[in-house]
Amino acid sequence: MMNGTELANQSPPYEDVDLFGSDRPLQDAVASNAGGDATEALAAFGRRWGAAAMFELGRQANAHPPQLEVLDPQLLNADGFRRDTVEFHPAYHDLMTESVAEGLSSSTWSADATAAPPPAQVLRAARFYMAAQVETGHLCPLTMTRAAVAALAAEPKLAAMVVPKILMRRYDRRFAPWWEKEGVTLGMGMTERQGGTDVRTNTSKAVPAGEGYLITGHKWFMSAPMCDLFLVLAQAGGGLTCFLMPRFRPDGAVNALHFQRLKDKLGNRSNASSEVEFADTFAWRLGEEGRGVRTIIQMVQLTRLDCAIASAGLMRMALAQALHHARHRIVFQKHLVDQPMMASVLADMALETEAAIALALRLCRSFDLAATDPGEAARARLLTPAVKFWICKRAPAFVYEAMECLGGNGYVEESLLPRLYREAPVNAIWEGSGNVMALDVLRALAQEGAQAVLAALAEDAAGLPGVREARVLIGQALSAGEAQARLAVERLALLAAAAALRASAPAAVAELFARTRLGGPRGVMLGTSDMKPAEVDALLARALPA
Ligand SMILES: Cc1cc2nc3c(=O)[nH]c(=O)nc-3n(C[C@H](O)[C@H](O)[C@H](O)COP(=O)(O)OP(=O)(O)OC[C@H]3O[C@@H](n4cnc5c(N)ncnc54)[C@H](O)[C@@H]3O)c2cc1C
Repeated sequence: MMNGTELANQSPPYEDVDLFGSDRPLQDAVASNAGGDATEALAAFGRRWGAAAMFELGRQANAHPPQLEVLDPQLLNADGFRRDTVEFHPAYHDLMTESVAEGLSSSTWSADATAAPPPAQVLRAARFYMAAQVETGHLCPLTMTRAAVAALAAEPKLAAMVVPKILMRRYDRRFAPWWEKEGVTLGMGMTERQGGTDVRTNTSKAVPAGEGYLITGHKWFMSAPMCDLFLVLAQAGGGLTCFLMPRFRPDGAVNALHFQRLKDKLGNRSNASSEVEFADTFAWRLGEEGRGVRTIIQMVQLTRLDCAIASAGLMRMALAQALHHARHRIVFQKHLVDQPMMASVLADMALETEAAIALALRLCRSFDLAATDPGEAARARLLTPAVKFWICKRAPAFVYEAMECLGGNGYVEESLLPRLYREAPVNAIWEGSGNVMALDVLRALAQEGAQAVLAALAEDAAGLPGVREARVLIGQALSAGEAQARLAVERLALLAAAAALRASAPAAVAELFARTRLGGPRGVMLGTSDMKPAEVDALLARALPA
C-alpha cells in the first residue's frame, strides 16, 4: 500500500536475473561456436552481472559522470600547476575492477601478444555482451585496451613490456607511471578537429627525440583519458605514423597531455571523452614512419567487433525489459504479452536480437580461426564492417520500440530505457560511422577471398527463403557503386545472420528470420512481420523464460 492506494499492475524491477541462464539464443550461439565447455563459467558470470547490485553500480556510474581536474594548487609538476586528471565515481572503478578481472580487456591474448587459442574470442564476446546489458560506458577503455595489443605487436620490445601488464587482469586506478602499476589500460587518439574519418588530415607533428619522439598538436576526441598509454597518430618525417604515448615520461615526470575539457555527450556518461593538446609530449613509435594507418587498423577491426557486440547487448537488455514488463502489465484485462499486436512487436524484437547475437558470435568464431584458416580470415575482414553497420544501426530504433512497450514508465529515468536509448547511437558513430563501414565493405570485396566468402554464406544459408534473391541483389547493388552500397551491405549482413542462425538456432528460427527479412513482404517497423501465434510463442519462450 502507498498513501492508501494499492500498488497494483506495475511490473517488478528486472534485476537479480541470470543473464546467461535466461538467454537461450546466447547459450545456443556460444555452443555452436565451440564455447559449450564454458557454460558453467558463463552462467556464473551471468548471475553475477544480473545481480541488482551490478545494475545499481551502472546507475551510479552514469548518475555521477566523471569530472576533469585541470589544475591543482598543491601539486607542482613539470608543466606548472597542471593536474590533467579525471575523477570517476567509485561505482565506475568497481565496474572496471570486475570487468578487468574477468578478462574483458585481455582474455583474447597470450603473453607473447599472439592470439589466445579458440574459443577465446567467442567466450569473451559472450561476457562482453552480458556486461554491456548492465553498463556500457566503462567498456570503452576495456575495448581499446584489448584491441591495442594488435597494434603493439608492431614493436615486439614495447609489447613485451606492456602486454604482461594488460594480462595481469588487475585494475589499478592510481595515477602513477605505468611500469609501477599492477595492471594498465590503453586508449587511442586518432580524431582531430579537421578530420575523424579522414585521419590522413591529422596535423599533429612528431619529431624524433632520444628513445622516442616529441608530439605537438591536439586530438578532438580522446576517450578514457585516465588510461596509462595511448595509441596516437601524428605526422612524422615519413608521413602519418602510429605512436604509443604514456601518461608518464620514461624519467617519471608527468607527460604533457593537457586536457582542455570533457565532451558533454548525449549518452555514454560514465565514460570520459576528452579534448586534449600535446606540447612536446613524449611517445614511442609503433611500426614504421608513414605506416600509421596500417598499424592502427589492426586495432580498429577489434574495436569495430566490440561495437557490434555491445549494441547487441543493448538490444538484448531492451528486449528483456520490454518482455518482462509485458508479462506483468495488464491492459484491458489481459497481460500485454497476450495482446496479439504487442506479441508481434516483442516477437519481432526477439527474432532480431537472436539474429544479432548469432551473427556477432559467428563473426567472433571467424576471428578465433583467422590465424589458421584463410577463409575465416577473409570472412572476418568482409563481415566485420557489415555486421557493425547492421547491428549498431538497428540498436537505436530497437531500443526506442522497447521503450514504447513500457509506456510512460519507459520514458522516465527510473527505468533503464532512457540510458539504453541515449547509449545506442554511439556505437554506429565511433570507430567508423555507417557510410564508412559500407565503403569498407566495398574495399574488402575487392580483396582476395571475398567472393568465396559470399559463396560460403549462400551455401550456409542454402534453402532458406530469399537467399538466392539476396545474393543477386547484393551483386547488383555492389555493381551500382557507392550510392547503393548501403543496400548491399544491409543485405549482406542479413544473409550472414540467416547463415549464423541456421547453425545456432532451431531450424524454425532461421527459416522465420529468412522469410521475414530476406524474402516476403514486411513493413519498416518492428511488429510488421507476418508470424503465426505458435512462432511468436516459441520466439518469446526462447528469449526469456516466463
Ligand atoms: C563518444 C565518442 C567518443 C569518441 N572517442 C574517440 C577516441 O577515443 N579516439 C578517437 O580517435 N576518436 C574518438 N571519437 C571520434 C569518432 O571516432 C569520430 O567522431 C568518427 O570517426 C567520425 O569522425 P568525424 O566526427 O570527424 O566525422 P566525419 O569524418 O566528418 O564524418 C561525418 C559523416 O560523414 C560520413 N562520411 C565520411 N566519409 C564519407 C564518404 N566518403 N562518403 C560518404 N559518407 C562519408 C561519416 O560516415 C559520418 O557519418 C569518439 C566519438 C564519440 C562520439
